[in-house]
Amino acid sequence: MPDTLLLTGCKQLVTMAGFAPRRGRNLSEIGAVNDGAVLVQEGRIHAAGPRARVEKLAAARRARKMDLGGRVVTPGLVDAHTHLVFAASRAAEYEQRIAGAGYEQIAKAGGGILSSVRALRAASEGQLLAAARANLSRMAAHGTTTVEAKTGYGLEFDHELRTLRLLKMLAGAQPVEIVPTLLAAHVVPPEYRGRPDGADEFVDLIVRLLLPAAALERLAEFCDVFVERGAFSVAQARRIFAAARALGLAPRLHAEQLRRTGGARLAVEVEAASVDHLDFVNAADMRALARSEVACILLPGCSFHLGLARYAPARKLVDSGAIVALATDFNPGSSPTLSLPMAMSIACTQMRMTPAEALAACTINAAYSLRRHHRIGSLEPGKDADLAVFDVSEFREIPYYFGVNHCAMTFKRGRAIHDQS
Ligand SMILES: [Zn+2]
Repeated sequence: MPDTLLLTGCKQLVTMAGFAPRRGRNLSEIGAVNDGAVLVQEGRIHAAGPRARVEKLAAARRARKMDLGGRVVTPGLVDAHTHLVFAASRAAEYEQRIAGAGYEQIAKAGGGILSSVRALRAASEGQLLAAARANLSRMAAHGTTTVEAKTGYGLEFDHELRTLRLLKMLAGAQPVEIVPTLLAAHVVPPEYRGRPDGADEFVDLIVRLLLPAAALERLAEFCDVFVERGAFSVAQARRIFAAARALGLAPRLHAEQLRRTGGARLAVEVEAASVDHLDFVNAADMRALARSEVACILLPGCSFHLGLARYAPARKLVDSGAIVALATDFNPGSSPTLSLPMAMSIACTQMRMTPAEALAACTINAAYSLRRHHRIGSLEPGKDADLAVFDVSEFREIPYYFGVNHCAMTFKRGRAIHDQS
């Protein structure tokens, strides 16, 4: 008899069933069912929907039963943009920023990303693993079942590869699914600064050595570039993406975060899996994105934590038909939150997304951006039984009660990986 589990007591079951990705008005189609149930077989969803129908299917299978106690059940949350592996917090910069120092001013004084680079290079493998593992378990405790994780604090051949290998180890050592991305082109490393062609020389290293090594060991699925003044140009990114594509790594971009640099257009040109941030896109960029298959991953935790008045134009992007997703951008400098419910809350109040849109943006559309929408992101027959159970009375209360974790249980492939019920 296959291992079968019947989950009842879903006061509201958000299935997110239907097509992917969701655009425009369809982003708020979340497939909510009152008094729902889920039948899980061998880690996959056999049925999800109204309790009476699912219970009938369960009866013939002698399923184990679990009553979730009248809670709200959603697909496991998918965090499609994180910088998971880092060595230390940057709380001192947080205080400097409150006192008035700007993001770029801090970076020029040796703080910012480069301070995380120094800390990561000095940290042992054991330290990095323990910290990342603790954060993955906190993510699971907030309902997250799949996490994209970028390198980018190594900025050197051995250290970038070391981070990718750590991600591989973590993927096998704990239950949260990890999607690895090589972000060697995060900023120009200190060793290459002050040389006239330093940035191009580092791009050479990425193209000639790092990407081939990562591809050979199958350590990364995606290749990301930070397209920004002081980081990498559109032309340099184009070169990196051509090399990545040839090796089977799909592009992702950090673009239009602090000013408009043309990264969004490049994302459309190279058919990137995602383009992230987008605080400074213009109307023509939005039209191009709306016509494309590129996921626009918005990271409201970043503007919130940096105390910026400007947020990405989520409302316009959704209404224009672009594929909008949400993520935490969990990192020690600009967005030290690993809570997707918190990201949803900021998206609702600061970017005027509705709670339904925000939830679809960090489940089905986030899964789409990671090329996993056929397997995760909704509760439909055949998909992985990844679920988050919230101790609220309806899904809108997930972003509404901000600053409190309401996730009571999290399941990955049918197994409880967090349980506070
Ligand atoms: Zn980022």
